[in-house]
Amino acid sequence: MSGYGQPDALVEAAAALVAEAQRICVLTGAGISTDSGIPDFRGPNGLWTKDPAAEKASNIGTYLADPEVRRRNWERRAAGALWADVEPNDGHRALVRLQDRDKLHTLVTQNVDELHQRAGVDPARVVEIHGTTRKVQCLSCDYRADMEVVLERVRAGEADPPCLHCGGILKSATISFGQSLVPHDLQRAEQAALACDLYLAVGTSLQVFPVNETLPVAVRSGARAIILNGQPTPMDHLADIVLNADISATLPLICG
Ligand SMILES: [Zn+2]
Repeated sequence: MSGYGQPDALVEAAAALVAEAQRICVLTGAGISTDSGIPDFRGPNGLWTKDPAAEKASNIGTYLADPEVRRRNWERRAAGALWADVEPNDGHRALVRLQDRDKLHTLVTQNVDELHQRAGVDPARVVEIHGTTRKVQCLSCDYRADMEVVLERVRAGEADPPCLHCGGILKSATISFGQSLVPHDLQRAEQAALACDLYLAVGTSLQVFPVNETLPVAVRSGARAIILNGQPTPMDHLADIVLNADISATLPLICG
């Protein structure tokens, strides 16, 4: 029952599914944050297309092996080159409405920008499946800190600040290429997919494994599904409604 009718009719139908739903699992990807000025990674204006050094730093092997990659990474962050002053947009705010209407079960995000929490979504409902760039973690012990705490050390002269507890290598608390997802986070995403009665995928190409698999899991267990994305996805055939439309303009119409 895929819908490819008139855009207005599809938006209305999507809003009706939201109105009926009681436990919504939302999955968001880069597309919801581009209107906040955060580039996606591999598009024509993507972060890695423009800055290959950033892609190098995102590979865990390179990051561990090459102090120079780490130094440049800290230097770039300390200079505020990465996402200083970004704010949530109407898309992020629309999802807060689902929480206000007591319909939001879990918000799983592939984004690492914390814009959902900044918009007002209860952090306890958010699963950051690829981590967050606003925090730092030690790769050897369980030390975690706000990114800003470590950037202060960089600005004070430490080019590659070590963990203060164990001397280990510090890294932004994101999942780099070559790193495994946090099992507990993946488990929460899967449980939300099983528990929800509506699965809403927003701004994601649904091509990043394994989190994309939560959509078929939800559909198989009886949930309805809406996909709102700029482009078609390989999972469109599984959704009740597919909207290829502007996200920050459309999401407020769907979320009420
Ligand atoms: Zn440590």
